[in-house]
Amino acid sequence: MSKFVVKHVAVLGAGVMGAQIAAHLANAGVPVTLFDLAAPEGDRNGIVKKALAGLKKLEPAPLASPARLALITPANYDDHIEQLRGCDLIIEAIAERMDWKTALYERIAPHVAPGAIIASNTSGLSIDALANALPAALRDRFCGIHFFNPPRYMRLVEIIATSHTQAPVLDQLETWLTSTLGKGVIRALDTPNFVANRIGVFSILAAMHHTQRLGLGFDEVDALTGPKIGRPKSATYRTADVVGLDTLAHVVGTMDKNLPDDPWHRYFTLPAWLSALISKGALGQKSGAGVYRKAGREIQVLDLQAQDYRPSAGKLADEVAALLKERDPAKRFAALRASEHPQAQFLWSLFRDIFHYSAAQLGQVADNARDLDLAMRWGFGWAQGPFETWQAAGWQAIARAVAEDIAAGRAMSDAPLPAWALEPDRQGVHTPAGSYSARSGKLHPRSALPVYQRQLFPERVFGEGADDRGVTVWENEGVRLWNLPEVDAGIAILSVTSKNHTLGAEVLEGILQAVARAEREFDGLVIWHDAPFAVGANLQQVSEACAAGQWDMLEATVEKFQRTSQSFKYAQIPTVAAVQGMALGGGCEFLMHASHRVLALESYIGLVEAGVGLIPAGGGSKEFAGRAAALAATTATPGEVFPFLQPVFQTIAMARVAKSAIEAVELGFAREQDIVLFHPGELLFVAIGQARAAATAGYVPPPRLQGVPVAGRNGIANFEMVLVNMREGGMISAHDYRVARSAAVALCGGEIETGAKVDEEWLLAVERKEFVALLRTPETQARIRHTLDTGKPLRN
Ligand code: NAD
Repeated sequence: MSKFVVKHVAVLGAGVMGAQIAAHLANAGVPVTLFDLAAPEGDRNGIVKKALAGLKKLEPAPLASPARLALITPANYDDHIEQLRGCDLIIEAIAERMDWKTALYERIAPHVAPGAIIASNTSGLSIDALANALPAALRDRFCGIHFFNPPRYMRLVEIIATSHTQAPVLDQLETWLTSTLGKGVIRALDTPNFVANRIGVFSILAAMHHTQRLGLGFDEVDALTGPKIGRPKSATYRTADVVGLDTLAHVVGTMDKNLPDDPWHRYFTLPAWLSALISKGALGQKSGAGVYRKAGREIQVLDLQAQDYRPSAGKLADEVAALLKERDPAKRFAALRASEHPQAQFLWSLFRDIFHYSAAQLGQVADNARDLDLAMRWGFGWAQGPFETWQAAGWQAIARAVAEDIAAGRAMSDAPLPAWALEPDRQGVHTPAGSYSARSGKLHPRSALPVYQRQLFPERVFGEGADDRGVTVWENEGVRLWNLPEVDAGIAILSVTSKNHTLGAEVLEGILQAVARAEREFDGLVIWHDAPFAVGANLQQVSEACAAGQWDMLEATVEKFQRTSQSFKYAQIPTVAAVQGMALGGGCEFLMHASHRVLALESYIGLVEAGVGLIPAGGGSKEFAGRAAALAATTATPGEVFPFLQPVFQTIAMARVAKSAIEAVELGFAREQDIVLFHPGELLFVAIGQARAAATAGYVPPPRLQGVPVAGRNGIANFEMVLVNMREGGMISAHDYRVARSAAVALCGGEIETGAKVDEEWLLAVERKEFVALLRTPETQARIRHTLDTGKPLRN
C-alpha cells in the first residue's frame, strides 16, 4: 500500500460534530469540503454556511484562529457531490440514523476516489452494519472514527475496524490522527458505544442509581465526583447537562437496545425525573436548564423532593473530606468502604461497580486494559482509568472487597468477577511489559507504529513504570540541565523544575548557568518541560521585596531577568523553546528570545503583566520595539515605526493571551517559521531535531540590535490620546492609564525624539525604569498582593 497523503478531506454533515471536526482539520492546515443537505430555500449551501458562522461564536473555540475558516469550502450533495473525487479521506458525521447513513453511503459511493478512506463518526451504530451499505470495493477502506465533543480539545479518537477493513488503512489513519490532529487513538471493538462511552455512561448510570439509593442531592454528588476523585469539575450531573440530556438518553438507549444480555441491562434506562426533564425540553446547558439552571447570577439545582430548583450548595461532609485526604489509595478505599456515612458509601459503591463492570466487560469492549484506561482519561478527562485506580489501591484487596459485595448482594449486579481478576497472584493489569488483554489472556505491549517513536515520554498508565528521564548534566533548585544520549547526545535539555514553573531567583540563576554550560559542552539547547511552560515571575518574591522596600534588589532582579532572556537570544548555540500550556509574562519573554520555537497547538501565550500593574520588562517590550523598527525598515518610510507598535500596544495594555499557538504567531509572540505541533507528546522529539538541524546548518546568533529608530515622544503622545479618551469614557482606571502609559513609553523607546536611533541596552534600560517605577506605586503592589491571595486580577 502506498504512502497515505491527506491533501483534502470531505466532512459529511455540518452539525455539532461535523462542523467542529472540519474546524480542527482547518486548524491543522488541511483543506476541507464540508457537505450538508442542500437548503430547501435561499442559498443552497445555507446549512453549512450557518454552521460555519456558528463556529466563530462557539466556546471553547473550535477554531485556533478565525482565519482558518478560509480552508473550509461549503458544499451540498445535490450540486457538489463530484468534489468528493478530490478527497483522500471522507468523514461522515450526519445524524445518528442507520437508514439515513446507509442512504447517504449509497449516494456517495460512485463518487469516491480510488484509494480514499471512508470513516463514520457514529457514536453507537454498528460499524459492520454500516459497511454493508457500501459497495464491496469500498468496504475494505471503511472504518469508524469516533471523535469526542469538543473535537479540538478532547484527546480521544476511537477507531473501529470492521471485518473487512484492511490493516494498513487503520495504521495510516491512526498515524495521521495522532501526529497531524494531535489525538490519542484507541482501537475500539465494534460494540455498542465503543469503549469510553460504554464505561463512561455506565459510570453516570451507576452514579444515578446510588444517588437515588442513598438519597443524595445532585449537587452533593457533583461535589463528590469531581476533582476530589480525579475527575473534571463538571463531575457527573453537570457533565450530563453539558453533553445534553437528550444525547445522553440516546446513548443509554443504544445500550438498552443492543445489549440485552449485559448483566447490568436493567440499569440501561433513564430515571423518571430525567425523562421528565427531557420531555419538558430541559435538555441541559444548550436549552438553559437541565439538572442545573442559572437564575440571574445564582446556579440552581433540581431538588427531587421539593420538585423544584433550589440554590446549588453541594458540599462534602468534613468526615468524608478527611477520608479522601488519605494519600495511600489502599487505606483510602478501605476507609470509604468501612464508613457508614452515605457520601462515603456512595463513593465506595460507585468505584466498586465501575471496577466490577470494567472487569466483566474488558474482553468484549477493548483489546486490553491500557486502552480502556486511556480511553477514560482522554474521553472523559479522568486522571486515572478504572483499572489503574484499582491496581494502585492494591489489586488483591479490592478484588476481595468487590467479590464480597457481589456475594452479599450489595453490588449492582450479581455477575461474578471474571476468573482472571481473581487469580491469586495477580498484582494488577498493567506492567512495564504490557497490559492485560482479557481476549488473549496475555499482556499486550504498546503499539509499535512508528508514529509513537515521536513521543519520547508517552502518557503512562499506573503500573507501567516510569520512563528513564535521561542523564543530569547539572541542576539547582530551579532548573535541571540534562540530555538523552540515545536520542541526541549533543543536544542539552533545560527543564524548569520550580512549582507551577514560576520564574524565581533560583530559576534565573539556574538558566544563566545552564545556558553557559550548554554553550561550552553541547551543540544546541532545548527548553522543555511538561505544561505549563511558565506562568511568569515569582510574584511572592517580588511582593516581599516591595514590602521590604528593596528597590535596588528589585532593579537588579529585573536586570537579571533581562540578561536571562538575552542569554537565550545570544547563545552561541541554537536555543529551541518547546512550549505547551500557559506561557505568560516572563515565560512569554523567554520563548520570544529563543532562536526557534516548537509550539503545541494548545499553547496560551501572553504578556499579562498589565494585570498586576506592570509592563513586560524581561526584554518583551524591547523585542517588540525592535520588530516594529524591522518591519518599518521594509517600507518606504523606514523611520515611521509607530503604525507597527499599535497592535502590540493593544495586546500588551489589554494583557491579551493568545488562545492557540496559531494565534500566538498572529499576535507576534511566535513567528511564521516556527513549528506548531498538534500532539504535545511530540514536542521534545521535534525540538531536539530542530536544534540539531540548526546546529548542522551552522547556527550563529543574530547581531545585537543597534541603530533602532523609535517612535519616541510623538508615539507616546499618540498612545496617550487614545488613553485619555478611554479614561474620560470611564473605560479604564487612573492606574490602568498609568500602566498603559508605561507600556507605551517602553515600546516607543522612552521620551526621546521621534525617529532617534537607539541600541538594545537603551531599550532594556527604559523597560527596567518603567517597571521599577510601577512597582513603587501602592496600586501595583495592591494588584500583586490581590493576585497572590485570590489568583484573580484586581481592578483598581
Ligand atoms: P447534529 O444533529 O448536530 O448534525 C447532524 C447533521 O446531519 C445535520 O447537519 C443535518 O443537516 C445532517 N442530516 C440530517 N439528516 C440527514 C440525511 N438524511 N442525510 C444527510 N445529512 C443529514 O448531529 P451531531 O451531534 O453532529 O452528530 C453527528 C454524528 O456524530 C452522529 O453519528 C453522532 O452519533 C456522532 N457523535 C456525536 C457526538 C456529540 O457529542 N454530539 C459525539 C461523538 C459522535
